[in-house]
Amino acid sequence: MSRSEDLYSRAQKRIPGGVNSPVRAFNGVGGTPLFFQKGEGAYVYDEDGKRYIDYVGSWGPMILGHNHPDVIGAVRKQLDFGLSFGAPTEVEITMAEKVCELVPSMDMVRMVNSGTEATMSAIRLSRGYTGRDKIVKFEGCYHGHSDSLLVKAGSGALTLGVPNSPGVPADLAQHTITLQFNDIEEVKACFNEIGDQIACVIVEPVAGNMNCIPPAAGFLETLREVCDQSGAVLIFDEVMTGFRVALGGAQEKFNIKPDLTTLGKVIGAGMPVGAFGGKREIMEHISPLGPVYQAGTLSGNPVAMVAGLAVLNKISEPDFHKTLESKTIALVTGIQAAADELNVPLVTVCAGGGMFGLFFTDQECVTTFADVQKCDTDKFKLFFHHLLEEGVYLAPSAFEAGFTSQAHSEEDIAFTVAAAKRALAKLV
Ligand code: PMP
Repeated sequence: MSRSEDLYSRAQKRIPGGVNSPVRAFNGVGGTPLFFQKGEGAYVYDEDGKRYIDYVGSWGPMILGHNHPDVIGAVRKQLDFGLSFGAPTEVEITMAEKVCELVPSMDMVRMVNSGTEATMSAIRLSRGYTGRDKIVKFEGCYHGHSDSLLVKAGSGALTLGVPNSPGVPADLAQHTITLQFNDIEEVKACFNEIGDQIACVIVEPVAGNMNCIPPAAGFLETLREVCDQSGAVLIFDEVMTGFRVALGGAQEKFNIKPDLTTLGKVIGAGMPVGAFGGKREIMEHISPLGPVYQAGTLSGNPVAMVAGLAVLNKISEPDFHKTLESKTIALVTGIQAAADELNVPLVTVCAGGGMFGLFFTDQECVTTFADVQKCDTDKFKLFFHHLLEEGVYLAPSAFEAGFTSQAHSEEDIAFTVAAAKRALAKLV
């Protein structure tokens, strides 16, 4: 028995499903989840000591790779001063200033402890600000697990086949309108009918929780237009894309300014951190300035702030994202060429910076949730396990985006492409 198998059976006795977040259980691919012991640069090491090139990166935060000396050094230094005070600290201001500098649509920002908290708070703020209840989201997009947003959700909810979770009151879910990602006409029709009742539109500007789907030409522009016309708040959920597809996130890449932005993952360097922010006029409605309540005992935790700041400073160096993107492009074009040579139907996507998608499908491109559902998840499962054997760790689900980091070397990419070619050959 491997140590991971041993630990998994022990974990299942006391932790539901043996895991503290569902997708980790390998439900999407079958088999025993790996238990990790350490990470270093582009690699993670399981409890049996096997090394993997990691394309999960803790689901996004590890844009510098694991155990980066700047991050670990900053955390070590802070530890001497204590873990938490529940009172303001200077580093929170430095963080807020840095975030607003990198994401110019944000005049003000409030730190929270997860992406879920960020989106939940942004939704409450939008409702409080507009005095309206209805929200618009898109099928297959995932915005964390707060009640209003667990309606036709992506990520683990999709992998486990429960996009509408029991426990979400129907009275609440009825206020969530779900439209098709990239369907401009449907958005316009919805706003023509009930635009004046809609508090906000929340969208992943690049969908990363139903694999990886960039926005169609004009889609984000349309969202901006209908929100301007109706007075609804436009929220870009950049928990995944923020600081990843470009330094200023997807809003910089596609040149659209949302009213509010939610952040997570990279901003915390692997510590439990999220943030939401945006236009001053809206953010001033948050307590204690305004009446919309939002709070957190550990929010703005100084250890988490110094870790996140170390990452934000590093990725602000010239050409960081350009270099990262060239690695991502080398990876996906390499895998695409291997698939084409072997006649395995595959669509690959580089969404910019360090974010990519792989779809097993004979469709020419994948632009909607319906297209995603036509993909061959069985092929993905086999591919995943062949690569795992080769020492390459992809997200254990066909519905997740992949992530590269600064630490992935040309050799790592070349090894991955060669391993992918051997894995694809076994699918023929
Ligand atoms: N929004 C998006 C776009 C996400 O990808 C995620 C997590 N994958 C969340 C929100 C929720 O973040 P967390 O898991 O930190 O609560």
